[in-house]
Amino acid sequence: MTEFSTLSIKETISSLKNKDFSVSELVDSHISSMESGRELNAFITETADIARKKALDCNQNYLKGEEKPLEGIPLGIKDMFCTKGVKTTASSKMLENFIPPYESTVTQNLWNDGAILLGKLNNDEFAMGSSNETSFFGEVKNPWKNTKDNFTVPGGSSGGSAASVAAGMGLASLGTDTGGSIRQPASFTGTVGLKPTYGRCSRWGIIAFASSLDQAGPITRTVKDCALLLNSICSYDSKDSTSSQKKIPDFEKSTDESIKGMKIGIPKEYETDGISEDIAEYLEKGKEWLKESGAEIVEISLPHIKYALPCYYIIAPAEASSNLARYDGVKFTHRVDAENIIDMYEETRSQGFGDEVKRRIMIGTYVLSSGYYDAYYLKAQKVRAMISRDFKEVFSKVDAIYGPSTPSTAFELGDKKKDPLEMYLNDVFTVPVNLAGLPAMSVPVGLDKENLPVGMQLIGNSFDEESILSIASCIEKSAKFDLNPNRWWINE
Ligand code: GLN
Repeated sequence: MTEFSTLSIKETISSLKNKDFSVSELVDSHISSMESGRELNAFITETADIARKKALDCNQNYLKGEEKPLEGIPLGIKDMFCTKGVKTTASSKMLENFIPPYESTVTQNLWNDGAILLGKLNNDEFAMGSSNETSFFGEVKNPWKNTKDNFTVPGGSSGGSAASVAAGMGLASLGTDTGGSIRQPASFTGTVGLKPTYGRCSRWGIIAFASSLDQAGPITRTVKDCALLLNSICSYDSKDSTSSQKKIPDFEKSTDESIKGMKIGIPKEYETDGISEDIAEYLEKGKEWLKESGAEIVEISLPHIKYALPCYYIIAPAEASSNLARYDGVKFTHRVDAENIIDMYEETRSQGFGDEVKRRIMIGTYVLSSGYYDAYYLKAQKVRAMISRDFKEVFSKVDAIYGPSTPSTAFELGDKKKDPLEMYLNDVFTVPVNLAGLPAMSVPVGLDKENLPVGMQLIGNSFDEESILSIASCIEKSAKFDLNPNRWWINE
C-alpha cells in the first residue's frame, strides 16, 4: 500500500485534486496505520466504517470537481468532543458508554468542510493531567522513545491527539487546551499545536473542564495545516455565549507573510525559570532565526507570571468541581445503584471518577467553600487580572512573545505519576496564556540530547493568531524539523 501517512494536509489535498490517489485509498492507508499503531493506545474508539463510508462520497466530490476545503482528510478527534452517535468518554469510567445525541460545533464545522472522522482519541480523564496517564483507558505511549530506548509520555491532556499525528495515524487531530493541553503534547511529540484566543471557537458540545479557560484547537504536522484547520473550526456560534463575532481572517495567508520589522518579546522570567539546557539552547537559536528573518528581539517582563501556576490550580479546579457536579448517576451513563439517593450519588461518583479528577473536585469545592472563598478563589481572580494586565502592557510594545513551551522534553512513562505537584510544574509556561485568554502555539524546533522533540511557544495578542502563524512559519523553515520518529511499534 502506498504510504500516505507522512504527507501534510496541504500536500494531500493537491494529490487528491491531481487524482494521484483516491480518498478511499488515503483513508484505507490511515486505517491500517491506526490498526498497526494500537500499541500506542492513542485511540479509544476507531471509526473505520464511518471513515470508509464517507470516503466514497468524497471520491465523488473530487470527480465532480465539487470538493470542499478539507474534502477527504482523515482526522482523529480528542474524546472530549461530543460526536453524534459515536461514543464520547472524556477518558472516564463515568462516561464509558456515553453516546451523545449531538455533535460539537467545531467538529460539525470540520465535517461540513469535508473532513472524515477516523476515531476518538485518548486523553487524561476529563482533560486533567499533563502526561495522559490519568485516562481510564490506560496511558498513551509517545511515538518518540528516548536514547535509553525507554517509553516516554506524549504529554497531556491531549496525548492521544498528539501521538496519533506524530505516528501518522490521521493527518491531524483536534485537542482542547485549558492550561496547555494542546501545546505541551505538541511539544513532546514534535507536532504543531495551536490554542486559539478564548472565544475564537465555540465550546458548545465540548465536555467542560474549566469553562473560562477551555478552548479547542488543532494539532498538525505543519504550520500551514494548523492554519487550514483553524479556518475550518472557527465560527460564531449563538449556542456559546462566549463565542466571538469577530471576523475570521484567512489564516493560511498569514503563514506566507514576512515577519520583517516585527517586534518579538522574550520574557526574562521565561529565560531563567529552570528550563533544561537543551531547551535554553533552542531558545537562543530561535532568537537568531527570528533576527535573520528581519524581526527585532525585545526583552520584556511579565512580573506576575510567577503566580500563574498557583492561580490556575485554584481557578481550574473550582470551575471543574462545578462542571463535574452533573455526573451524578441520573443524567449520564455510569450509575451504581444503592439503597437511597445519597448513597447512589456517592457510590456513582466514587467509582466513576479516577484519583486526579477527585483531587480536583476536592480542591475546587474547598476553594469555593464559604470560609475559604475570599482567601483562595477571590484572590486567584485578582491575580488573574494582574497577569492579564502584564500581557496587555507587553502587547503595547511587541507583536508576539517567544519562549519555551515546557521546562523539559518528554519524560519517561511513570516518572511523575506519583507526585501531582511535580506534574503540575509542567504547565508553568502554558497556563498564563489561558488565564489571559490569549492565542498561543507550540512549534517543533529540533531534538534534544535524548533524541526527543523540543517545542517552542509563541504567544499572540488577543485575536491575533495571524502574527504567531507568520512567525511559526519562519521558525519552521529555519528549524527544518523532520517529524519522523522511528516506527518501533511496527518493527517490533
Ligand atoms: N495539565 C493541565 C491540567 O492538568 C492542563 C490541562 C488542560 O489544558 N486540559 O490542568
